Amino acid sequence: MTIRSVLQAITHPRSATEDLAPSPPATPDFAEPLHGSLQLRHVDAGSCNGCELEVASAFGPVYDVERFGTRLVASPRHADALLVTGPVTKNMVGPLEKTFLAMPEPRIVIALGDCARDCGIFRGGYGVEGAVGDILPVDVQIPGCPPHPAAIIEALRGLTGQ
Ligand code: SF4
Repeated sequence: MTIRSVLQAITHPRSATEDLAPSPPATPDFAEPLHGSLQLRHVDAGSCNGCELEVASAFGPVYDVERFGTRLVASPRHADALLVTGPVTKNMVGPLEKTFLAMPEPRIVIALGDCARDCGIFRGGYGVEGAVGDILPVDVQIPGCPPHPAAIIEALRGLTGQ
């Protein structure tokens, strides 16, 4: 994101999101039980923190993804979906699996960022167990290093149907 686009987002917040599609993609079958509301539990499995900055931006006042029915929650027991960033490091395999098992159905898994999708620049690292898909069944992938907030919002709108 350039300084110019940051200033434009601050002074003209609507224009920052006008590149978003006016209507979201069709809701996939596994997301039908969500009824337009998505509670997300985020787990950083070994990220560089770049993806977290963009997630924070997507939930911040400029992009404000909550207006499309998505909310971050503090407990996996309240979550419909698990949002995972980073490659899965060896010490995060257990916590990631426990978080997944603590969630109620439909237990949607979202791999956010290239590291979550295929280990990205950390592939082959001594502390890396694998990509998220090597540990859990991934339903949605959001590519990018890191993904733009607009891409994150588009993917989440695809789940809520809003
Ligand atoms: S995808 Fe890029 S920004 Fe995200 S954790 Fe990996 S290196 Fe960092």
